[in-house]
Amino acid sequence: MAEVIQMNENTWRFEDDGVRFFLFCGDEKAALIDSGMKTPDAAKMARELTDLPMILINTHADPDHISGNGAFSEVYMNPEEESNYRDNGGTTAIVPVKEGDIIDLGSRPLRIIDIPGHTPGSIAILDERYRVLVSGDSVEDGNVFLFGPYRDIDKYIASLTHLLEYEGQYDQIYAMHGSIPVKPDLVEKLIDGAGRIKKGEAMGTKLEMFGNKVLLYKFPYAGFLCEMK
Ligand SMILES: [Zn+2]
Repeated sequence: MAEVIQMNENTWRFEDDGVRFFLFCGDEKAALIDSGMKTPDAAKMARELTDLPMILINTHADPDHISGNGAFSEVYMNPEEESNYRDNGGTTAIVPVKEGDIIDLGSRPLRIIDIPGHTPGSIAILDERYRVLVSGDSVEDGNVFLFGPYRDIDKYIASLTHLLEYEGQYDQIYAMHGSIPVKPDLVEKLIDGAGRIKKGEAMGTKLEMFGNKVLLYKFPYAGFLCEMK
């Protein structure tokens, strides 16, 4: 059972065995942001915290982020993520969201920022009221997954560079793995790290991950798991 931790009067996080998801409440609506890895009753847990009408938003559709999606008839997601979602068994209808869209929970606008790379339809969510950026798996201080189908390191670097345009609009980053919160300057560090990997300037360690041979590039601030070429 995921552990529930209140972060402010309108925000909760659910710690689900190495991955987390969030409940954000506004004045009129609530949003569950992702639904965890091992929590099919995520919606029910969130229901115990608020009576507001609730929507579901996915930062992306890897299997550790969608375990409770089945309780919803629709999910807000970037449509570029649909193949990954269906491959992982997701059946929910998709309400498409893209860069620049605002989902307003009532005095709590959530701005969608497209950040493809970790997956094709990865999004970040800028919570303008609390000046928080929800970064999915793309900005975190654990190991960023960049191996396997759907990953693209070039798009990843471009997306994080795009995120820099929003610098100054948030004070904290909420990632789905690793520490919480992390500081905004992690974005620049990750751009630098991924760039070094691309240029062949970083040394990776071989390891096996879910049957894949991968290279782990460890930097002081985070790691990257990449395809072994
Ligand atoms: Zn994840």
